[in-house]
Amino acid sequence: MFIETRGNDGKKDKKVEFSYAIMNPSASFGGLYVPENLPKIDLEFLQLATKKSYKQITLDVLKLFNIDIEPSVLEDAVNLYDNFDDKQNPVPLAQVRNDLFVNELYHGPTRAFKDMALQPFGHILSHVAKKQKQKYLILAATSGDTGPATLNTFANKENIKVACLYPDGGTSDVQKLQMVTEDAKNLKVIGIKGNFDDAQNALKTLLASQTFKDELEKSNIKLSAANSVNFGRIIFQIIYHIYGYVSLLKLNRISLGEKFYQIIPSGNFGNALGAYYAKKMGLPIEKILIASNINNILTDLITKGEYDIRNRELLLTTSPAMDILISSNVERVIFDKYGPKRCKEMMEELKENKYYKLSDSELKELQKDFSAVYCDDEFAKKTIKNFANEGYIMDPHTATCLKAYENLVEEKIPSILCATAEWTKFAPTMLNAIKQDDKVYSDKEALEGIKNTLHVEIPKSINSLFTKEIVHDEIVEKHEIESKILGFIS
Ligand SMILES: *Cc1c(COP(=O)(O)O)cnc(C)c1O
Repeated sequence: MFIETRGNDGKKDKKVEFSYAIMNPSASFGGLYVPENLPKIDLEFLQLATKKSYKQITLDVLKLFNIDIEPSVLEDAVNLYDNFDDKQNPVPLAQVRNDLFVNELYHGPTRAFKDMALQPFGHILSHVAKKQKQKYLILAATSGDTGPATLNTFANKENIKVACLYPDGGTSDVQKLQMVTEDAKNLKVIGIKGNFDDAQNALKTLLASQTFKDELEKSNIKLSAANSVNFGRIIFQIIYHIYGYVSLLKLNRISLGEKFYQIIPSGNFGNALGAYYAKKMGLPIEKILIASNINNILTDLITKGEYDIRNRELLLTTSPAMDILISSNVERVIFDKYGPKRCKEMMEELKENKYYKLSDSELKELQKDFSAVYCDDEFAKKTIKNFANEGYIMDPHTATCLKAYENLVEEKIPSILCATAEWTKFAPTMLNAIKQDDKVYSDKEALEGIKNTLHVEIPKSINSLFTKEIVHDEIVEKHEIESKILGFIS
């Protein structure tokens, strides 16, 4: 069962099933749903897992959670990992230093780690909607990676429509093409004149608009969200951390029960939360090392105990998926550590005063599990270049992890870092790093440039984007969004 991070308001149920929590992700007082109890995995589980496939381990972990989704549906959902590059091993682990390994989470259809969760989640959500005989509209706002992964997973799914907003000019060409060429009747992609914050605010306004909901109701459609606070995504983000450790065991790089560092390039903290839950469940993580970029709000929280966005503006970096000031999933850790009352208090302070502060003992508690450091674009580019020279290609988000590896690792034990995107999604930055220039390249030019410099192939799914038909070509003003979406619905 699932409970609420800010306590219960007396109107909603105190405990809900998984299917309810994923269809109605907003809990009392604007809080989030969290599992009442986390299942445990022990060393025997990990030992046995070395003989199992990624899919089987996923099913085993889901079984421990005992959620209200039929096993056959879960099986179909995890079969979607068969569409990853290597069916036998959808999440390969690469060794890049004697004690440093890369868990490559980007081998899915849209080349970013969002697929790890969104692929199976899309199947489950559609199944629940069908079972309820209810149609849902999923609203999404994206800075680049969530949009493609959301559209891909819901394309042609029954009982689901998706409207996806992206900032025109605010994504890479590849990311934009992944969205505007996604051809399915149940998808609507709208570019808006503005930045990602504008897209996100437009979405929030719609989610809160009663007239919008009334209009949807006339068409018998409910609103839902598939953003990264949805527990239906988080549950799948626990598993690849377990699998990374299992891969280390299989490679004989760690002995059963020996600890390791988990390094995570973080934005909205979904990936890191997955690691936190895995650690609580029994995965021998020494510490979770959080890498942020110069929007270093998470670093401040974890090193100083302050969440302070009073005088902060969002800065654009070469790791745009981590350009964020309100990191939503942090709330679940706050709840887990300090309880619902304190969590509600802090989240309200953040909303009202753009600030909250942990006490010394609260900070100590947080630092038992997390350390953090931030990385600027220059360091990330240098890292990309160094690794490329050695023959390993790392995207600009993944590269931020090296700062954490260099600064935060204390024990002589292995580290695993999460690679969250393929280089092909951020080709201009990659070429700038490799050529050590700051020319403005188009994605197409940069992809070719890297192909020729590093002698790597561009995957077909990326190359084919440039010749695909564009099916969504609308760019609108913010005030036009609502009518566009309502037009799409009817
Ligand atoms: C979404 C994303 C992140 C941030 O992940 P969170 O779970 O939001 O912390 C990092 N890198 C890439 C490439 C992403 O797409």
